[in-house]
Amino acid sequence: MNIPPQIKSLLAQMRSAGYEAYLVGGCVRDLLLGREPKDWDITTIAKPEEILRIFPSGKYENSFGTVLVPMKSLLSDQDEQESGVVEITTYRSESRYQDHRHPEEVKFEDELDKDLERRDFTINALALGLDIEAASPEIIDLFGGQKDLRQRIIRAVGEPEERFKEDGLRLLRAIRLSAELDFALEPKTERAISKLAGSLKFIAPERIRDELIKIFQSPRPSEAVARLASLKLLNYIIPELVQAIGVNQNRHHIHTVFKHCLLSLKYCPNPDWRVRLAALLHDIGKPRVKKMQGTEATFYNHDILGAKMTEKILRRLKFSQADSAQVVNLVRNHMFYYNVGEVTEASVRRLIAKVGKENLRDLIDLRIADRLGSGVPKAKPYKLRHLEYLLDKVQSDPVSVKMLKINGHDLMELLKIPPGPVLGAILDVLLSEVIEDPARNNRDYLSLRAVEIFASDWQSGRQQAKNVIAVRRQNDEAAIKAVHWVK
Ligand code: ATP
Ligand code: MG
Repeated sequence: MNIPPQIKSLLAQMRSAGYEAYLVGGCVRDLLLGREPKDWDITTIAKPEEILRIFPSGKYENSFGTVLVPMKSLLSDQDEQESGVVEITTYRSESRYQDHRHPEEVKFEDELDKDLERRDFTINALALGLDIEAASPEIIDLFGGQKDLRQRIIRAVGEPEERFKEDGLRLLRAIRLSAELDFALEPKTERAISKLAGSLKFIAPERIRDELIKIFQSPRPSEAVARLASLKLLNYIIPELVQAIGVNQNRHHIHTVFKHCLLSLKYCPNPDWRVRLAALLHDIGKPRVKKMQGTEATFYNHDILGAKMTEKILRRLKFSQADSAQVVNLVRNHMFYYNVGEVTEASVRRLIAKVGKENLRDLIDLRIADRLGSGVPKAKPYKLRHLEYLLDKVQSDPVSVKMLKINGHDLMELLKIPPGPVLGAILDVLLSEVIEDPARNNRDYLSLRAVEIFASDWQSGRQQAKNVIAVRRQNDEAAIKAVHWVK
């Protein structure tokens, strides 16, 4: 099993100090599945003060019995690779969840069993002990977690309804884990989720947001959202999306708005959760602006309304301002017009200015998602490839005098001359030289050369320069076209 040396040494230190200590929760689950754990949790009989005595670099910041120890501090040698923290938590049980949010009371315990009982799912209630002497690690499995791991099942520890009533976030954790691991929900657990969907109302939006982000980062976000809808959890998270269920579109679409949103998410080629979220929400304005029925239905301005709705949804769920702005921007601009032959380079530049250079890739990916989600099979039609080509072309701004570190005004000042054709000629010659060697693009070199060119036969120099530039332009354009497969 792939346990980092820091963790092994930490467990050994605790045991030689006389305390029981086990790896527990998600990291044990992931180790047994052969996945790389996201974080390392340790549960122990030692009380926080005792943990701190063994690991003076640890920090004890809350009253839940968790001490954070930086991984780096655990190995003295040159081993720099691993960073992050290990969470060491004293055995504890929880009781009295009055507000469905946080346990009212955390009680330290003397037995591992009590600590495992409070955990949400059988696959998350496994503990792993490492005895230096023993050949293989010892696994403590009180609730059949290993069997559920083998059968790929998410099953609540104990009575599902009670456990979900204690903490409603577990409803969402179940869906999130099934999306991450491709596990099924055990039927009784699933029924309890659907029955108690309303408990999500009491959960802090930040906690919901964090689970949503993990769902969108998982390999199966659209399946998870479909399940959120069928189990009615979606009503308490994004009710606006529930409004899209069953809303038919027009003759350009074969799917309802909701199905199309789900499929766009499914086929989104970009792994960034923000782009995926935009794919899910891009048509969220449609149900409210729909005019007429049947094949003639219209959805004017759904992009504008959709952007406003998206902003409201993400504010409600406490997404950061930056994340929200990025998703809203994509939803707002997903309808950008593009037709080969009709769109000029200038209008492509305007699109870049509006959307932001750094968001273009995402916007194109959203467009691809949108197309694939509409049932049209071609991933990247000629139109999109052509747009990508134009974007590349206007962005790289192939060889123009504008990229020179000196301009006509500078030359007039430097050479004490009025405007005239000699300025253009000098700039052309300078450009041809910079093309040959970009390192020459500095004011010292360019000023020096400008004086020389001015004193020489600049007419014929200009002709030579133009040839160099023309050849370079052709090569560049051919290269960019080849990259985008356009003629
Ligand atoms: P991840 O891979 O995202 O870290 P995880 O299962 O490890 O998933 P954590 O939030 O790191 O999730 O929690 C660690 C462990 O703490 C869980 O495996 C589970 O045993 C327990 N746990 C976390 N949240 C809850 C909860 N809301 N109710 C009960 N147990 C929980
Ligand atoms: Mg974890």
